[in-house]
Amino acid sequence: MQTLATTPPTVLETRIAALIEADGPIDVATFMTLALGHPTSGYYPAHARLGASGDFVTAPEISQIFGELIGLALADAWRTAGAPAARLVELGPGNGTLLADLWRSTAKVAGFQTALEVHLVETSPTLRLLQAERLAPVERLQWHGDLTEVPADRPLLLVANELFDALPIRQFLKEATGWHEIEVALDADRRLCLGRTARPSPLGAGLPAELPPGSVLELSPAREALMADLAERLRAQGGLALIIDYGEAEPTPGSTLQAVYRHQKVAPLTRPGEVDLSSRVAFGPLARIAREKGLRVFGPLPQGDFLARLGSGLRLAQLVRGATAAQAAALEAGHRRLTASDGMGTLFKVMAVTSWPSLPPGFVAEEAVA
Ligand code: SAH
Repeated sequence: MQTLATTPPTVLETRIAALIEADGPIDVATFMTLALGHPTSGYYPAHARLGASGDFVTAPEISQIFGELIGLALADAWRTAGAPAARLVELGPGNGTLLADLWRSTAKVAGFQTALEVHLVETSPTLRLLQAERLAPVERLQWHGDLTEVPADRPLLLVANELFDALPIRQFLKEATGWHEIEVALDADRRLCLGRTARPSPLGAGLPAELPPGSVLELSPAREALMADLAERLRAQGGLALIIDYGEAEPTPGSTLQAVYRHQKVAPLTRPGEVDLSSRVAFGPLARIAREKGLRVFGPLPQGDFLARLGSGLRLAQLVRGATAAQAAALEAGHRRLTASDGMGTLFKVMAVTSWPSLPPGFVAEEAVA
C-alpha cells in the first residue's frame, strides 16, 4: 500500500515548493497559514471535515452536553452581569454544533436570546455554508472573517473551542550558536523538508538561554495578537470569554506541531491542504496579555473539572432517562471521553477571561496561572 508520504505532491505542495524555490525557505507559521488557510487549496476552505466520518472530532461533535453547558454558563454570567444587550461571538465554529446546542439549551433563559446579536468569526467559506444550514434557528446571525470586524459597542460573550490550536506557530531550535528558526525547505527531490536558518534568530533573545542544544521551543505571535485584540475589547466593552483547547499552562520544550488525517497522526509536512494541522496551546502567555489589560483570568482548568462543576453528570443522567439502551451507552461514552483523564478531560483546558467582577461559572477563586 502506498503511504501518504510517497504519494505525488498535492496542488498546494507544488505551490509551496514553487514559492520556496523562488524566495527561499519559509517559517513554520507561513507554512501553516498556507496549508490551513490557502483560499482554494488550504485545509479549512477546501478539505476540512470534522466529525466521526471526517479527519478529527471535537468536543461538541462528541456530546451535546458540551455546547449545552457552555450556553448555560454564558447565560448565567450574563444574568449576574445585569442582563445587558450583548454580542455572542464564536471564534472558529466548525460545523456549528456548539452554537446549535448552546442555542437550544438557553431557549428558556428569560430574555437571553433576545438580548443577543450573534457573530461567527470564520475564515472558511465552505464551513460558513455548513454553519448557515445548521444554525437556521438562530436569529440575528452574522459572519466575519476576523474579530476586528465585530462591532465594538456591547459586552461580549465569547467562546473559542479548538481555534487557538489552529493558529500558526513559529518554532526555534537551540544550537551552540543560539536559537535558530525552524523552516520549511526543499530536499534534493523538490519535496518539502524541515531545516533551520543558518544564523540565530533575533527572536531567540526572548527565549531561555539555558536549554540544551537540540531543544525546540514554540512561539505564536498569531495567538498573542488575537488575545490582545480580544483583551482590549473585553476591557473596553466588558464581557466574558471562554477559551478551550488542548495544551498546558506554560510552553514545554519540543515540537507539538501535529498533522491529522482521518483520525490518524501523520508527519506534519504530509499532503499540505489535505490534513489538519494544530499544536498545543500555551495558556500562560495569553493569560499575561489579558492581565496586562486589567482583566481577570481564571484557569486554565482541566476540561473534565470544568464540565463536572457545571453539572455534566446531572445532564447526562437526565438525557439517559429518556434514551434507549443503545443511546444511553453512546451518551455515556461521549460524556466519558470529554471528562476522563484518558480522554479529553485533562489534556483539554478552559481559560476564562473577564472584565466582570463575579466568578465565571465553572471556576473557583484563585485558580489563575501566575
Ligand atoms: N470550534 C469548532 C471547530 C474547531 S476547528 C468545534 O469545536 O468543533 C477550527 C475552526 O476554526 C474551523 O471552523 C476553521 O475554519 C476555523 N478557523 C481556522 N483559522 C481561523 C482563523 N484564523 N480565524 C477564524 N476561524 C478560523
